[in-house]
Amino acid sequence: MPPPRHAEIAGAGFAGLTAAAALAQRGWSVRVHEKGPEVRAFGAGIWIWTNGWRVLEAIGAHERAREDGYESPSIERCDQNGKLLMPPIRFSDHGARMIAVVRQTLIEALLETCLEAGVDVVTNSEVSGASGEGELETAAGGTFPADLVIGADGVNSAVRDSLKLTRRRNGLAYGGTRLLIPRTREEMEDRTDRVLSYLNGERRLLYTPCGRTQTYLCFTVRPDDAEGRAIPVGKKAWIDSFPMLEHVIERVGDDGRWDRYEVIRLKRWARGRVAIVGDAAHAMAPSLGQGGGCAMMNALSLAAAVENASDIPGALAAWEERERPLTERAQHISSMFSGQRTDWRRRGIFETARHRPTGAEGID
Ligand SMILES: Cc1cc2nc3c(=O)[nH]c(=O)nc-3n(C[C@H](O)[C@H](O)[C@H](O)COP(=O)(O)OP(=O)(O)OC[C@H]3O[C@@H](n4cnc5c(N)ncnc54)[C@H](O)[C@@H]3O)c2cc1C
Repeated sequence: MPPPRHAEIAGAGFAGLTAAAALAQRGWSVRVHEKGPEVRAFGAGIWIWTNGWRVLEAIGAHERAREDGYESPSIERCDQNGKLLMPPIRFSDHGARMIAVVRQTLIEALLETCLEAGVDVVTNSEVSGASGEGELETAAGGTFPADLVIGADGVNSAVRDSLKLTRRRNGLAYGGTRLLIPRTREEMEDRTDRVLSYLNGERRLLYTPCGRTQTYLCFTVRPDDAEGRAIPVGKKAWIDSFPMLEHVIERVGDDGRWDRYEVIRLKRWARGRVAIVGDAAHAMAPSLGQGGGCAMMNALSLAAAVENASDIPGALAAWEERERPLTERAQHISSMFSGQRTDWRRRGIFETARHRPTGAEGID
């Protein structure tokens, strides 16, 4: 028997771990390099739509991830006084489900799936670049040859930059502070709790029930709103903007992470034996909640594309041609102002959420 083919992956986030599990389950030997001291996600929630759950089911990580998930039936957009700005959107009316999970729960589910499949996960290993011939390089001076190198190292991807693949990288007009707060007993008992998006001028507060015991909040502001983006969150400033949410904002602790939203487009998703996946290739604004979903879909489809391929560069080119249009439509729609109610946008909002990812064909 020929030896298994080998992949070196930069980054143990949603994209890197999904690709690693899917490749290892297809008989590849896989090493993941994570620059952090451990494989961890920061304290926030994440919306996972039907497409993302299909990926998780295809690699066998869905049950662990769903253990602490909360399925919201709908989203309501309100002004600062709770007055509805538009009719509620029921997700099932659009053929999609959204289950929010704590990011750390999802990362642990992916990591356990990787370890069970025999993936070697190396922490404190910062990747500095890669060559199209298939060598991953680390900041410590190591060179790791592979049949396939994957850059899944996030928005500041060293792998992507070493190959000069970026076409454009734009900071958007907004950013958000994400954090978790404990749910009250009444909230935990309420199984009809839904996503609420409150708007007051340039400030927005997104409330998402997330898991059994937590609620995920995202405070969105313009980058020059210093008071609005302060960490710890300035409770007084936010209660002034959303007085009826005082009982929620009061529960915010000292943690939280502010990120400016950005959009990244590449000239190509692959060069030679190197593929770029996840935010490194296609970071998008969070309004559809699809950055992580697309990261996992493209990671799974990448593994499916190379599974039996004798020509890896050719398989990567075909993978990009097949998968890139859907991701770029999601990117485009995410960047549109939510008030832009064109038919095209309305149809496109749920297109990705309903999608059946390559590699998850047999899954409902
Ligand atoms: C406010 C906000 C809300 C969002 N909400 C949602 C949502 O609800 N649903 C959704 O699907 N998406 C959401 N997203 C997008 C989602 O978070 C990202 O798309 C997703 O995290 C991308 O995963 P990734 O694995 O590509 O990158 P990352 O999650 O950034 O993981 C990259 C990993 O690589 C490691 N790394 C970085 N550099 C190196 C290096 N040089 N060497 C080795 N390791 C390295 C990092 O430590 C990290 O572990 C949101 C984004 C924002 C900003």
